[in-house]
Amino acid sequence: MEDIRVRFAPSPTGTLHIGGARTALFNWLYARSLGGKLILRLEDTDTTRSTEDSARGIIEGLEWLGIDWDEGPLKGGAFGPYRQSERLPLYKQYIQQLLDEGKAYYCFCSPEELKIQREKAERNKLNYKYEGTCKSLTSSQVKELLEQGMQPVVRLKVPNTGVTVVHDLIRGDVEFDNRLLDDFIIAKSDGWPTYNFAVVIDDHFMKISHVIRAEEHLSNTPKQLLIYNALKIDAPQFAHVSMILAPDRSKLSKRHGATSVQEFRDQGYLPQALINYLALLGWSPGNDVDIMSVQDMIAGFDLNNVSKSAAIYDTSKLTWMNGHYIAEANIDWIFELIDKPARAKGWFTDDNREYCKQVIDLVRSRAKTLYEIFDLAEYFFNPVINYDEKGANKYFSRPGAIDKLTAVLNMISSANVLYASELEQKLRSQAESMGLKASELIHPTRLAISGRTMTPGLFEVMELLGAETCMQRIKQAISFIA
Ligand code: GLU
Repeated sequence: MEDIRVRFAPSPTGTLHIGGARTALFNWLYARSLGGKLILRLEDTDTTRSTEDSARGIIEGLEWLGIDWDEGPLKGGAFGPYRQSERLPLYKQYIQQLLDEGKAYYCFCSPEELKIQREKAERNKLNYKYEGTCKSLTSSQVKELLEQGMQPVVRLKVPNTGVTVVHDLIRGDVEFDNRLLDDFIIAKSDGWPTYNFAVVIDDHFMKISHVIRAEEHLSNTPKQLLIYNALKIDAPQFAHVSMILAPDRSKLSKRHGATSVQEFRDQGYLPQALINYLALLGWSPGNDVDIMSVQDMIAGFDLNNVSKSAAIYDTSKLTWMNGHYIAEANIDWIFELIDKPARAKGWFTDDNREYCKQVIDLVRSRAKTLYEIFDLAEYFFNPVINYDEKGANKYFSRPGAIDKLTAVLNMISSANVLYASELEQKLRSQAESMGLKASELIHPTRLAISGRTMTPGLFEVMELLGAETCMQRIKQAISFIA
């Protein structure tokens, strides 16, 4: 069996977008499911837009998601370097080869001349194609222009007839009419290769077996196949993964909320949730299961089950998944994740670790993001300074509210330590002896103790807060009502 070698090849010109993260994930799942290798390659030939910050951000994003690579930056490998900017001599060698073989040619047309050609095509309502002006330059003309110091681009000679067929593992055969392509540029005037050329050289020399990438590159693939052809080297297999669209099927943009991995991290999402969500954006494991472990994803991943149609980005599903993972995650880990901001609030200290963990454990099942834990846990760390308005109208304004709270207060003061199960029993019999339903004592007590009408189970909350705090808060509520 051939060696499976796939790659994720981001251009470090921005953040790690969820589209890129999904491409990385599909490559990773493919490699891991077949015992193959994932190569990370930084495509930084766009010198004006590539930045070191972006490269670092992308690498951090992948690490955070738990997508590891076998060769690439920070790892090395036998087929490096893994940054295109460090591979210029290799590209130059093969550009020269194509020039020497007459398969490519120098083009000296200035941007102004090309603009005139383009405008002419537009006026005649034709698709613009480079007219091939420089294709017929003789070698002595070329030599002369080079000697004058002109800095030409290099174009590939593209056949005017026939079709180029992309055999796509997701889409089947996609045909491109060669007539619609022009002699496209493979090296820019500064000597740097264009994306299409560099990618071919790298995929070949890095022994990539499968190129799994975004659909937006499908139209580049015939160009790349023509380069493979010209260089007489075999192309890898291709799989173009569909676009991710907004719920209204428009292009995904900022207005649809967070779209970069870093933003999700900073908003309190867990990597497992994002991985789980992204895996199902276009891939269907063939059952209705939504929550999947990474092991299950690896075991079940198959390009045959990746959809041709666009995937719809639905943050409510992601948020739901995040809530699930927050509720299920190891509590120590959740604690570590929020430790820093919780310390900044003065909530977590070196002395209250156990208490904090119990609080998180109690409230987390309602948290959809890590930061919602802070809201849900507020009254465990801060005094109650106001009461939910509707709740106060309902439970504090009714006759008998003070009597009810006083009864609970007395009940607590007769017990030294509060245990949830005991409390419940006592409160129920207290209610009975007053001819009330238990809920008639529970609701005002909850409001007094937390300021809220919704909390986790009241008795667990009281146990955790302790008798003293509960009594103090009930007294405070009684004076508020009185
Ligand atoms: N560097 C390209 C990008 O970031 C990816 C190219 C490829 O996968 O072939 O879109």
